[in-house]
Amino acid sequence: MSEVVSIKNLKKTYKSGIENLEVLQNVCLDVNGGETVVITGESGSGKSTLLNLIGGLDNATEGVIVVDGRDICRLNENELTDYRNRYIGFIFQFHYLLNDFNALENVLIPALIRGDRYDSAESRALTLLSDVGLKEHRHHYPSELSGGERQRIAVARALMNEPPLILADEPLGNLDERNSRVVEDILFSLVEKYRKTMVLVTHDPELAGRSDKYYKLGHGLLERA
Ligand code: ADP
Ligand code: MG
Repeated sequence: MSEVVSIKNLKKTYKSGIENLEVLQNVCLDVNGGETVVITGESGSGKSTLLNLIGGLDNATEGVIVVDGRDICRLNENELTDYRNRYIGFIFQFHYLLNDFNALENVLIPALIRGDRYDSAESRALTLLSDVGLKEHRHHYPSELSGGERQRIAVARALMNEPPLILADEPLGNLDERNSRVVEDILFSLVEKYRKTMVLVTHDPELAGRSDKYYKLGHGLLERA
């Protein structure tokens, strides 16, 4: 299968005061289409930094990141906005749902941004709401949903534009044990159902058992575990 992500010699340094913080020293990673990769590492090891670089939310200091054939380090701001909307489905620890919009609207907004017609976006959003078991909750606002339900909506939203790549940053981090398992099952089963490629970062080594490939990030380096 072809590579969806190919990272070569990635380096990320933050300048803070007079010191340079070398968060990623020399990271290489290849992810094939349809694979699920889990990366664990201690807090502060650079997991979010790595995911944000792949997602075009931050700029690399050195190195190459190719996603679905495009070198994203060469994209300009407009191209990056388009890249994030079409190529990436983000799921974060916090749901980032829009409080003034109901569940259905939150799921379909990425498609409206892309320029889809409302009715086609709505029918796809309803399918995804069924997939996450929340079709009956489509008119609920985020404040009327539980933490686990909000994160299930975030999973549906991430899949809305059929992006080739799902990036998940501690997607279960804010949930209790029971809801973690529910959201975990929904996330992994939908990634499989829709044949998505996923890179998931977490401090929780338990999730490694669900991955095709498992890596550890530490001291600026990524190693296969
Ligand atoms: P993790 O997600 O593994 O907990 P992060 O990627 O968030 O780790 O952070 C890695 C390191 O980089 C931490 O030491 C953090 O303080 C530092 N860091 C993250 N973002 C910035 C930034 N914008 N400016 C300076 N330092 C940062
Ligand atoms: Mg983090």
